[in-house]
Amino acid sequence: MLEPLNSHRIFLKSRHWKLRSPIFLSWISGTGVPCLCILLLLSLLSGCSNREPYNVILISLDTLRPDHMSCYGYQRQTTPNIDQMASSGALFLNGLSSSSWTLPAHVSMLTGKNSSAIQNSFARGEVTMLAEVLSSHGYETAAFTGGGYISKDFGFSKGFDTFFEAGNWADILTDQAEDHDLEKIYQGSRGWLKERQTKKDPRPFFLFFHTYEPHVPYTHREFLGDEQSVRIGPKFTVEALFRLRDKSLTPTEQEKKYITALYDGDIRFTDAYVGKLLHDLDSMQLGRRTIVILTSDHGEEFWEHYPERSADHGHSLYDNLIKIPLIIRAPGFRFPKKVIASQARSIDIFPTILDLLGIEDGPHVDGESLLPLMHGENRPERLALSEETEFGPERKSLRDGVYKFIYIPDPKKIKRNADLGELNQFELFNIKNDPDEKSNIADENPSVIDHFSQLLVQIMQNAHALPAPPDHRRDISPETREKLKSLGYL
Ligand SMILES: [Zn+2]
Repeated sequence: MLEPLNSHRIFLKSRHWKLRSPIFLSWISGTGVPCLCILLLLSLLSGCSNREPYNVILISLDTLRPDHMSCYGYQRQTTPNIDQMASSGALFLNGLSSSSWTLPAHVSMLTGKNSSAIQNSFARGEVTMLAEVLSSHGYETAAFTGGGYISKDFGFSKGFDTFFEAGNWADILTDQAEDHDLEKIYQGSRGWLKERQTKKDPRPFFLFFHTYEPHVPYTHREFLGDEQSVRIGPKFTVEALFRLRDKSLTPTEQEKKYITALYDGDIRFTDAYVGKLLHDLDSMQLGRRTIVILTSDHGEEFWEHYPERSADHGHSLYDNLIKIPLIIRAPGFRFPKKVIASQARSIDIFPTILDLLGIEDGPHVDGESLLPLMHGENRPERLALSEETEFGPERKSLRDGVYKFIYIPDPKKIKRNADLGELNQFELFNIKNDPDEKSNIADENPSVIDHFSQLLVQIMQNAHALPAPPDHRRDISPETREKLKSLGYL
């Protein structure tokens, strides 16, 4: 670890103690001293006035499959800006989400906890969020999101001083917001950063940047020439997706390539905005003091397992849906490992950020810091739990780097009318030999199934007998509810 981190660690600990001191607090409340003066004083008292703490930007690009990114080896140049960011950071080859759909995946990302264990308490606002921890450590916090699930209604605004959500439910799930308001989200973030600069706000910041791009509709023709697909149309819309889903349109191989190229075009479009944001950081002289973490909540299926659920997500826990990109750029830190093959889970992001900032009094989380892996330490593979399907029956999976175990507690209990046909209650894949998870070897390996079953029972027991899941959509207006119902989402 480099010197600046240690100094920073001392700075934060010292400031934290002073903020919590009753005498100091009563002095603050009694005088009404402006915040800026207090921070300056704290800085002087801690003896670290020349040390600035690191800022943090967490970027979540919804529905982004890592194997469609050029820095992960994809043949199309979909992510030139992210590639550049990865070249000066650490890239995790096996990033794994806790779920295959937006809500539980983001709950885990921003709480560091496995989602099913905390559903009710998260909905009640009882789980500590990353923004709250950073806020309590003197950070100014802001989120610019695509809305929908990642909204105030669903509990995501907790701990943020500024919380902006661009889209509403009906827009996100229809074709009304072609670019998912990415320009608005970017401009909001940029404006907020500039305003802080103008005000010369001395506090460090935490910015959460979320966009639904490259989620359907796929609209960017970057990787298409003049090709047209009469049956799909110039764009792959939600309406076209539903025609695939109800089998009124079965795509040809050519049409599948066409749809995939449009998705890749959306990735390229999204990457340009990441480039703009990173460029802004540099032009505001913030790049060297800002840790940037880029990830996604889940992937997207392109006809690998369930043709009728392509292009889509939320219906299984195969790697095409739970593998996520994870790139950490931390200027000022020297990490010998640039490309890391060990499993890294979305629940690890929270403790990794706290570890980078030297914050040691965070809440208990299910994840672990990724810093030891970035330092090249040999550690046992982390067991990755994924769960909570949005469509079809509930599934739970465990992945240990060699095997992937999938369990369907009740194949007949189908969510959202998504009948996926005959399903095996247990699946086991050797992901080293069979990375596409095509050959179920559960029957030949009863002892391995036993081993994973016991692990799963232990995890669930530790999660204190799961409460019944809440109705996540309780706060939706009647009009939106009707719209979603007509689209088959309710
Ligand atoms: Zn999502």
